[in-house]
Amino acid sequence: MPHPIPTPCPGRCNAAWRKAEQQLALQGTEHHLTPQWGKPVHCLGCTDRAQVQLGELPELVAAIWLEALNGTPTKTTGTIGRVSTPVWPGQAARLLTDHIVGGMRDLEDDIRSLRDLNARRTGRREGADVTAATRFLTAHLPWALEHHPLAGELYDRLSGNPASQISEWHRAAERFTSRDRRLEHRRVPCPRCELLTLFRADGDDYIECRNINCGLLLTPLEFDEHTRALASECRGIRAA
Ligand SMILES: [Zn+2]
Ligand SMILES: [Zn+2]
Repeated sequence: MPHPIPTPCPGRCNAAWRKAEQQLALQGTEHHLTPQWGKPVHCLGCTDRAQVQLGELPELVAAIWLEALNGTPTKTTGTIGRVSTPVWPGQAARLLTDHIVGGMRDLEDDIRSLRDLNARRTGRREGADVTAATRFLTAHLPWALEHHPLAGELYDRLSGNPASQISEWHRAAERFTSRDRRLEHRRVPCPRCELLTLFRADGDDYIECRNINCGLLLTPLEFDEHTRALASECRGIRAA
């Protein structure tokens, strides 16, 4: 049997590499990054991460509920730049829960129909649904990361790739409950939205704008160039 040609993992592991490749194509900027290869679609790191994040969702959803019950509507950490502000205590928690639980249900329904399985049991309480969806998605994750029609779609906040979706739910929940991984704040404005929302998370090889309306990704090299450009702009202003 011929070996399949390896393809780069579509996951977030290759965000910086994809960016660098784009610049190579557009501007001829050379880079020395190598991609993570899919085995066969996602790399092992992205597969493991999706598995772990999925397993943590029930507890995170519960934490969102607790947050709402305790009535701390101002705790919308990480939603800098969000246009709408919650109008009643708990509304932000409700919206986020609907987003995550609704997304999990949709993904489960999707996989059930793609794999010709019985329809999902409905009419259960939300908590029971989260537990059941987590169990189902965990069991079908290896299949989903390889055979789901969107398994090869590139990592992005809005991607239908199952790994991207899981990572997006997980990240939104972690931010809401203030459990973000250690983030390093880069105190220069984002080159796209101009807010002070550039962060580099532990283990990430790129810098990300956490303004939910922007989401720009920068390679370390681009970030350095951006910082240098800003610095020389400032010098220009002072000299004038
Ligand atoms: Zn990967
Ligand atoms: Zn931005």
